[in-house]
Amino acid sequence: MIQTEREQELLTAGKALEASLVAVRRELHRHPELSLKEARTAALVAERLTELGLPVQTNVGGYGVVAELAGGRPGPTVALRADMDALPIEEETGLPFASEHPGVMHACGHDAHTAMLLGAAELLTARRDELAGTVRFLFQAAEEVNAGAKGMIADGALEGVSEIYGLHNLPTLAAGKVATRYGSLMGSVDRIELTLEGKGGHGAIPDQSIDPVVSASAIVMALQTAASREISPFDPVVVTIGSLRAGEANNVIPHRAELTGTVRTFSPRVQAGMKERLERIVTETAAAYRCHADFRYIEQNPVLVSHDLCVQHVEETADRLLGAENRVEAAPTMAGEDFAVYLTQIPGAFFWLGSGPEENAEQAYGLHHPKFDVNETCLPTGASLLAAIAASRLEALGGRN
Ligand SMILES: [Zn+2]
Ligand SMILES: [Zn+2]
Repeated sequence: MIQTEREQELLTAGKALEASLVAVRRELHRHPELSLKEARTAALVAERLTELGLPVQTNVGGYGVVAELAGGRPGPTVALRADMDALPIEEETGLPFASEHPGVMHACGHDAHTAMLLGAAELLTARRDELAGTVRFLFQAAEEVNAGAKGMIADGALEGVSEIYGLHNLPTLAAGKVATRYGSLMGSVDRIELTLEGKGGHGAIPDQSIDPVVSASAIVMALQTAASREISPFDPVVVTIGSLRAGEANNVIPHRAELTGTVRTFSPRVQAGMKERLERIVTETAAAYRCHADFRYIEQNPVLVSHDLCVQHVEETADRLLGAENRVEAAPTMAGEDFAVYLTQIPGAFFWLGSGPEENAEQAYGLHHPKFDVNETCLPTGASLLAAIAASRLEALGGRN
């Protein structure tokens, strides 16, 4: 009961920050920066955290920023993470604070995530005496290119951290709501690259050539059997060839064909077998057509698997803060998220925070759309929820340490 009262106070205090969170989000929205180029965003974040009196570390895993808040009572460390990068998309929202950088847009709402985590830092700093441990704030760069989380970990951002929590806004869920899921939430992401080498020649004399176009066509079709014939229908898999380049002229058999693709799975076990499976299909099909295959399988993101106890903690906190009627079960998605990398190192949970209109949210423009927008009332909700998750989890963990 005392916990509930304290958290309701956190919710009220979050609402009082709404105008300043909106201002931060709009400032970031006007000046979106692509992955690996988040210098200005990182500087703004570092400045705000320094104003709160927190020790700040910059250039962590690229332009990542880490701040630490030591509570008034001893205890473990819990991390909260937001991402900061934007996408190579031309904004079409027509908003007064739309992107001022041509061809770059915060179309995934990482501007909102950054504003929320700054809000959580402010809320928790004002209550530091009550905290039973330390909260580490991770402002991560380069999420959209699957590089930031790995970089943060390599630079020690998880050292001494017991658990990590993060959220992603969801425009097709009404603001004020939360969606959670036990186990796998988002798919693994791997990249494939293939170069086929044949023997170029005259389009009218195929017998004197080795045709990489025919070989590439056979490979694209054969790759689909990896999902349909080799893996249980109860295990989702996607193999998409997104680019296929070969030849210039209609009457010339080209020397070479180049293909790239993406592979998604929903279980670490299935992901682990994909490299061998696809390599076998590609090289042996290529050989059947007398082509030489140079195949590269690049692992990018693991499946995002939240830990059960941590999901339960998010659900209980969300229910106390927002009401159980505002929590729904998240649908699984094959989209990837590099928060998954943290979860291979330490326990934690990732969840969706509604950022859509109050009505007909399911019709809102989705993530990565040039008209994507955020219902800014979700900013204080996210800030308060992240703060409550960290504070109450430290309390619970502290009892065990
Ligand atoms: Zn994205
Ligand atoms: Zn995102």
